[in-house]
This record gives sequence, structure tokens and C-alpha cells, in this order.
Amino acid sequence: MISAPSGVRLHGGRFAFTVKPGFLLMKQAGCTERDILGCKPLQISVDFNITIVSMLPKRMWKMIDVRSREFAVPFLQSLIQVDTCNPPGNEHRLSLLLYDFLQTAGHDSTVRGIGEGRSNLEAVFAGTGKGRKLMFCGHLDTVSPWTAEAGIYPPHGAVIEGGRMYGRGTSDMKAGLAAMLLAAVSLQQEGIRLGGDLIFLATAGEEVDSCGARQYAQEHNLEELDGLVIAEPTGSRIAIGHKGALWLRITLFGRSAHGSMPQLGLNAVEGMMEVIALLHRHALEWQAHDPVLGTSSLSVNTISGGVQTNVIADRCTIDVDIRTVPPQRHAELRAEITARLDGMKQLNAGFRYEVQELLDRSGVYTQPDEELIRTALELAARAGGLAEQEVTRTAGDYSGAAGEKGADGESSAPAVQGVSYYTDASVLHNHGKLPVLIYGPGDPKLAHQPDEWIDIEAYLDSISFYRELAVRFLGLAPD
Ligand SMILES: [Zn+2]
Repeated sequence: MISAPSGVRLHGGRFAFTVKPGFLLMKQAGCTERDILGCKPLQISVDFNITIVSMLPKRMWKMIDVRSREFAVPFLQSLIQVDTCNPPGNEHRLSLLLYDFLQTAGHDSTVRGIGEGRSNLEAVFAGTGKGRKLMFCGHLDTVSPWTAEAGIYPPHGAVIEGGRMYGRGTSDMKAGLAAMLLAAVSLQQEGIRLGGDLIFLATAGEEVDSCGARQYAQEHNLEELDGLVIAEPTGSRIAIGHKGALWLRITLFGRSAHGSMPQLGLNAVEGMMEVIALLHRHALEWQAHDPVLGTSSLSVNTISGGVQTNVIADRCTIDVDIRTVPPQRHAELRAEITARLDGMKQLNAGFRYEVQELLDRSGVYTQPDEELIRTALELAARAGGLAEQEVTRTAGDYSGAAGEKGADGESSAPAVQGVSYYTDASVLHNHGKLPVLIYGPGDPKLAHQPDEWIDIEAYLDSISFYRELAVRFLGLAPD
């Protein structure tokens, strides 16, 4: 362990901080130890010069502005450098990093395990105890890294070039996660006491099964929350929801026979053709449209069945991807599909079927006139005029440039949008009762792509956005 010399003092110059699991380290970027410490140099020979920030005197910590570029950028780099690709996730590494950072900042947090190497982290920035409760939520995991052939930059290198930081999770969504945390810590650092509680939640498993959000929902009373902000990438635009997703695996069982005597068998592959036609007819009947989220849909995206060319297939399986918009309810849809399949079985008595649910994430939708959304729109408008000039876009459509005008050449009213992916809000929105804002500095088009990157200015701006949002929504504690 390395102890910082007493009387350590930060002064001008560029500093970089990096964090490793279990330790919070400060590293110097491109200058001598004396530049950092202003007293005798540290004799440290690692791949960079370090001192353990968590051992720094409190008064020195107070001199660090966590919102500054000099702190916030290397802080995000340190998050990117922790591999939390899911599967398997290994989010606990990142939870520990955040835990150490919060400890250094003088703030307690709770790390809650979810199986081997996985955990959530929660930090409550308590207000007066009487006000509202606002949750900032982001996920710790990322999708798999890109291959060396697919991208130029190392997935966990956090390389900075041309105002961008490259790395898996930069856009989706460690930049948003870091910005929310730094916003909360900066308020505390500056002694700004909120009128209500600000709850920071970093979840495991969002990219696969939302195991972290589900655990949190089981162990906490979501009724107590008044607002939820999810830092998924929206290109710093205001999103109010997303479609729901219901994935079903349907298997049809028939009866095998020799291929030359099909009349003796019951062909599951041919029977499945009927099932697919039935599903599409049904989907048209229940199709719904939402002006922001778009239109509900159903698609059959995998199929497998049969043994070989001269054998009547006794089994066929399809995977069905259903995307829903309010007010569609997944339980009702599933019940209707089951009833239709029962009906088909009556026509072909020998068939048997099974329906397995692969995924069920409810849609999320918040009315644009909810206070949380109105406040976010005001802040976005103030920050760059983006929201005021944007035209309303449908889910997944990010093709237009920000600030474009309507067909009549006039700027339309402040607009909200939907996002094409689903989020942990599906689990945390308390059956649609909790207002949800989706807002993050990342570009949604870059999520899950090779050479994913974040615009560093957008990341830094989002810290101010989250900070202001918390102050406005929760108010300030009375003196
Ligand atoms: Zn995400």
C-alpha cells in the first residue's frame, strides 16, 4: 500500500484518475509526480504513477470537483476498463469500484449480491426525509465485446480520440451511469441538501434478464418512489417509454410416419404453417398504435423441426417476438394465443402444443405532461434548444438531425419520443404507476456496435442535466 505524504495538495494541470476493483487509484497523465502533489514525488513504479485517493486526507478530497472534465473523464475510463460483458456479467467488480469511490466521497452504499460475481449497488442520498423520492438507475453490465476484426479500438481500452471515448459500454450505458453518480456526489460535496431522497441504483444483468432490477423490485417497496430516471442512450433527448416485449417459444407435436405414407402421420412442420398464419391473423386483430411508441408487432424469427426428408415431422418449434404498446397486456395476449391454439387443436385432434415464455418485459409509457417529463423538457430546451425544435419521432427513428423542423417549416412544440429497446424500467415502473424518464448522453445507434463511443461533451453536459433535474424535482431542503 502506498501512503500519500502529509500536506498533499492538488494544484493546476491535468489529472487523471483510475479505479481498480477494491481500490480507488489516482493516476497522473503525462506530467511528473511533483505536478500532482506539489511536494515530494511519490516513488511508484507501476505502469503509471498512482496514489490511493481513498487514503487522501478529507480536505484534499474536497478540493476535487467530480464534475470537472479532469475528474469525470478518467472516472468514466475506469468504468469502461472494467469488463462487465454479459454473459457472464461480473458486475460485482464494478459495484466494488463504485463502492470504493462512494466511500472516498464519504458516502455509504449497499452492495447486494446476486449469485457468483454479480451484484447491485444502491446509494441513498437522503434529503429532509419528508420530500419525494427520485431514483437514478443505470445498468452495470454491457453486451459482449467486439472482435479485433470488427473494430479498431480495444473494447476495454477507453481510448480517447477526437472528442470521443471508445469502449464497450461507453454509450450503453456507463457514461449515463457515471454521470448520474457524479451528479449526486457533486451535490453532496457542495453541501446542497435536497428536499427529498435521491436514490442511485446500479443494476446487474439488464442486457440479458434484468436479474438485478428484479431482485431490487422484490426487496423494495416501489410504491415509495415518485420518479425514475433511466440513463440508457437517447442522444440526450427526452424519451418517455418503450414498447413491451413478449417472446414465446411454441412447439407443435405431431406423429411420425414414413415419408411415403404421410396419411399415417401428423406433420408438425405443416401444422406449424397453420399456427404461423393463425398468429399473424391474430396479431392484425389486436394491433395497436401509439403516436410516440409506434405500432405493435409480431414476428416469427426462428423455426426448427423434422428429422430428414423422408420422415414425417413429429415436432416443430418456433420463436415468436411480440412487441406491444399500451394498453396491451401481455397476460391477456398470451391467454388469447393459447385459446387460438386450443381452437386449432380441435380441428386437428392429434396435435399437441406447448407454449414457453422466453421473455416478458412490459412496455413503459409516461404521459408527457407528468412533472418529471416537463422538467426534463425544460432543462433540455435550456441546455441546447434541442427539445424545443425537435419534431416528434416514432420509436427507433433517430434518423433526423436534432433541431429539424416540421413539414410546414415551423418548429414544432417540445417533443418527446420513444426508444426502440427495452430497459430496466419494465421491472421498476411499478406496473406503470411510476413516471419514467429515459435520458442518456449515449447515441442509441452505437449501442451494441463495434467501436462504440461516447461524445465526451455530451457526457459532461449530462452530469449537469441530472444534477439540475434532481434539484428541480426534489427541491432544496429548507434552511
Ligand atoms: Zn442499456
